[in-house]
Amino acid sequence: MPRPLIATIHLDAMQQNLARARACARGAKVWAVVKANAYGHGLERAMRGFADADGLALVEVDYAVRLRELGWSKPILLLEGFFDASDLPVMAQYGLNGSVHCEEQIAMLAAARLPHAIDVHLKMNTGMNRLGFTPDAVAAAYARLRAMPHIGTITLMTHFANADEAAPTRLPLAQQMLRFEAGAASIDAALPRSLCNSAGLLLHHLDSDWVRPGIMLYGGTPSGTSAQAFGLLPTMTLRSSIIGIQDVAAGEVVGYGSRYEAAGNIKVGVVACGYADGYPRHAPEGTPVLVDGVRTGLIGRVSMDMLMVDLTHVPGARVGSSVTLWGQGLPIDEVALAAGTIGYELMCALAPRVPVNEA
Ligand SMILES: *Cc1c(COP(=O)(O)O)cnc(C)c1O
Repeated sequence: MPRPLIATIHLDAMQQNLARARACARGAKVWAVVKANAYGHGLERAMRGFADADGLALVEVDYAVRLRELGWSKPILLLEGFFDASDLPVMAQYGLNGSVHCEEQIAMLAAARLPHAIDVHLKMNTGMNRLGFTPDAVAAAYARLRAMPHIGTITLMTHFANADEAAPTRLPLAQQMLRFEAGAASIDAALPRSLCNSAGLLLHHLDSDWVRPGIMLYGGTPSGTSAQAFGLLPTMTLRSSIIGIQDVAAGEVVGYGSRYEAAGNIKVGVVACGYADGYPRHAPEGTPVLVDGVRTGLIGRVSMDMLMVDLTHVPGARVGSSVTLWGQGLPIDEVALAAGTIGYELMCALAPRVPVNEA
């Protein structure tokens, strides 16, 4: 029998979350973001789950080619654009759109001879200071691109740093939008635009031609509010089983580093799931876990292949009892919050050794 740990991907939930994103998009076309192996869900599965999207967006050029080979015929966007001049013929051959965010990319484009035109997202840095041209530099970048025969449509794009916060003290979305509008107006305010990530879509009401939701499609929330409150469904459930039970007397200790000391007599369940499966090693005591549907918490340090949970108040628990680490019944965001991270990181970290099925 295989090790009992398994991740289940819920394709119907992916479809429903995409419908939710579309309902928020105010008529904009939807890039379903599938970078990082579709946030750990698998590229091919995401292609089926998001078959209704207008396009798929990711950062890995080889994965973009893979999408074409798998039969995806709608648009594909490379969110970081290309990394080397040798990527350009690949983009032209496979019809990949790319973001253009720096002078070096423009120089590579200027030097390229391509058999087909490529469509680009011209990226504006409106204050995040990650990728993009500043609003005063964007018109010159646009002019150079527009003059190239092998550039097709040009869409203006920006990315928000704080769309998930209601009232951020630094760089609120409105400030980024003011800068974006100034940059756009310096070229042509009517150019198509690509604006929102999940937080922008769920919490703001912007008009755009394209939106770029990621985490919401996977049933995670970009903000403190619960995904359920946004009508989003979990798309990944990580389940395992209890593979051992220890009755631990008061004063005894549990796990590596003997970090946990039993205050009274307790029952400890050992779960087949550890940090080598993608479960965060830094998850503290009390991080929620479901055993037979009953909520309990982690005790002791997470090991490579196992973690321990408190079964003292889960009376029916036995070896073989089902354990949910996150997903249906236990929002991934709650686990992430307890572990000091975000749902994104947990999904993306799902280790290749964990078998995945679909439901
Ligand atoms: C990852 C990414 C997104 C999606 O962000 P979510 O917070 O997952 O919705 C959108 N746009 C860009 C440029 C990204 O890199």
